[in-house]
Amino acid sequence: MHAVDVIIKKRDGGVLTKAEIDFFIQGYTRGDIPDYQAASWAMAVLLNGMTPEETTNLTLAMAESGEQLDLSGIVDIAVDKHSSGGVGDKTSIAVVPMVRACGLPVGKMSGRGLGFSGGTLDKLESIPGFRVDLTREEFLDQLRTLGMVLTGQSMDLAPADGKLYALRDVTGTVPTIPLIASSIMSKKIAAGAQAIVLDVKTGNGAFMKTVEDARELAELMVSIGKLSGRNVVALLSDMNQPLGVEVGNALEMKEAILTLKGEGPDDFAEHCLKVASQMLILGKKAKTEESAREMAQEAITSGRGFELLKKLIQAQGGDVSYIDDPGKLPQAPIKVDVIAEGSGVISEVNAKTVGETAVILGAGRMKKGDSIDLAVGVSVYCKVNDMVEKGQRLFTVHARNEAVCKEAETRLRSAVKITDKDVKPLPHFYGLVS
Ligand code: URA
Repeated sequence: MHAVDVIIKKRDGGVLTKAEIDFFIQGYTRGDIPDYQAASWAMAVLLNGMTPEETTNLTLAMAESGEQLDLSGIVDIAVDKHSSGGVGDKTSIAVVPMVRACGLPVGKMSGRGLGFSGGTLDKLESIPGFRVDLTREEFLDQLRTLGMVLTGQSMDLAPADGKLYALRDVTGTVPTIPLIASSIMSKKIAAGAQAIVLDVKTGNGAFMKTVEDARELAELMVSIGKLSGRNVVALLSDMNQPLGVEVGNALEMKEAILTLKGEGPDDFAEHCLKVASQMLILGKKAKTEESAREMAQEAITSGRGFELLKKLIQAQGGDVSYIDDPGKLPQAPIKVDVIAEGSGVISEVNAKTVGETAVILGAGRMKKGDSIDLAVGVSVYCKVNDMVEKGQRLFTVHARNEAVCKEAETRLRSAVKITDKDVKPLPHFYGLVS
């Protein structure tokens, strides 16, 4: 078999066999197939698509390209969650201790932020000492003893995806449903997940701009899960406006802590309850969404979720005094409010623009390896459908210096639209695919 023949077949709209996909992915992982051929193949997939069967075979080939964790001897059902990425999405930090408080163990591997979309590991690192580089043994040991882990992917899981994703990033081949679905699902399968709650975001601050595309991606991932023996559900959630109030690493860490104390913003608390409920159902801790929600709510009201966050931080070397007193988290030297220039109803708070502003302030990275500033970011005090008065505070910019603060203020003004017409609130969720 030759790599060029596999590329030509896909270029001409053919359907690749399992043997062809295995050959291509194994050859690329070993380095026998060079980047330029893999890039050409990825573009052919982007232009011509893949059948669900091809996508499943691609997912399994990537999952099998490296180590695969088996968590069955450690937990009854390995339940994982994955968000397709967004602005202000600090859900994992709150939800892992929440579901653990309800008796569901979770060993979760998270990622760093890239572009305007934030990453859980960066947020966690605003706690001094917190380690996100646990070894395989440390991961398994902590899952066994504490029943929860939140770390980076330091193991050799789905290396084909790591290589291919970096290549897609620089060859314009990220936004295609079969490659996104196989990328996400291969990592989850390799990490030992038997059940997965996917949080597929849709809107201007997400990969999937329309609900239809998000639904197609969600349905494909659910069917890959089914074909590979995993139980998968996907929430379709809104990412047209930022989630919660805070956008930026230490700011979001603080918001996750407050949410576990019952003091978080309504939309983010609602999001956590919904994700936690689905995890509890998949993990067989609850039968109905109603009872799962009650359990998740109780984890907050009782303070158990908050106590378990402290245990998690401590187990991974973090300074717990920062959880007790989030005021100790890194703070930017400059804080400037952006106020409404007119009165009316908010019709847009553009998530992408807010996310890009946070990156300009230094909260995110444009390419892998860029350093970030944990303290900076944006507090967002307005949501679509809110009434505002001229002079009312819409945002606070948390900046390191004056020049970048000015630029952020200008950008944030362009993120908001105020109208005198009727505006409907944006839904939190557009449905559940199961
Ligand atoms: N997240 C992933 O892990 N992979 C993609 O391709 C897109 C988003």
